[in-house]
Amino acid sequence: MTSQEIRYYAGLDVGGTTIKSILVDGTGNQIGEMVEVASQVKDGFEATFQQLSKALELLTNQIDATVTDVKGIGLDVPAPSSDGVIWGQANLAANWVGKNIRDTFSKKVGIPVFMTNDGNAAAMGEYVTRHKHFGGLLLVAPGTGLGGGLVLPGGKIYEGNNGLALEIGHISVPFREKNGELPSCTCGLKGCTEAWISLVALRRRVEIELADPKWKDHPLNSGELSTEEKAFRLRDFAEKGDELAIQLFRQQGFIFGYAIADMVRMFDPGLVVIGGGLAEMDFRDQYMEWVKEGFAERAWPMNQRSPLDENDLTTRFEWARGGDSAGALGMAFVAQEMFS
Ligand SMILES: [Zn+2]
Repeated sequence: MTSQEIRYYAGLDVGGTTIKSILVDGTGNQIGEMVEVASQVKDGFEATFQQLSKALELLTNQIDATVTDVKGIGLDVPAPSSDGVIWGQANLAANWVGKNIRDTFSKKVGIPVFMTNDGNAAAMGEYVTRHKHFGGLLLVAPGTGLGGGLVLPGGKIYEGNNGLALEIGHISVPFREKNGELPSCTCGLKGCTEAWISLVALRRRVEIELADPKWKDHPLNSGELSTEEKAFRLRDFAEKGDELAIQLFRQQGFIFGYAIADMVRMFDPGLVVIGGGLAEMDFRDQYMEWVKEGFAERAWPMNQRSPLDENDLTTRFEWARGGDSAGALGMAFVAQEMFS
């Protein structure tokens, strides 16, 4: 093979703290290791471009190639964007907003770029890791908030007309807090799914429950733990079978499944992949049962199994497999498909 024939494609996943990057060859196989560099999204897009260029150099150096051998880039960003333009600041510096990041970066590196948001990228990564899966895939990934993405049957990301689809954390669910109110969401609305299924939600819920006299002797009520620390420790408590922690996660899982039922009613993806930190919990099998309880409460029978064969599940649930490389892998795959 002559040097002119070498074609690689890069996936660049820009997060709040790190940029993860992966290189694939012309058949979509990963070449070399995943490379991580620090993210500098809060220092502006120019600083981030420098880090992206550094990632491209490190990626190609490890296989004795050069950046000019990269013929296409898939880039994902942690903010809503449309046709290459960032529409919402999220955790970025202000100078990203209203800028065509895709075209500016493409011009800087001289390589064609596809850009989407991080939820879509991770959904695509989960799709790619399931090599023989050609159906649809809905990723639901709780973290600080609740993100997700949809891959259509056949393997295309569904971004919506304006790139604003799949904001699944902000569809409403009919669950109320103990005081009868719909909980407030970070987006400014009330009653969002994210106000129940996220780390932010868990912080509110643990404080509300701990105020109940029933839990006055609970270990999380002793000492001077911050709300963040209490929410963080809940997982350990749940893994040891603590009643309060189990109650909180059970409620969360049930509401999660209930919300997923409406997403399935809308998209019928066939496969729902649950990602985020939940995928690494020791008690995740138990958690999945709670999700399925909530799902069964709200999903129609035909969204659960075929009327022709009760063993033929029309919606399957799986845990995420891609780990923290899913976004970069998904983007490398899309770049290879688009630009080869
Ligand atoms: Zn919201």
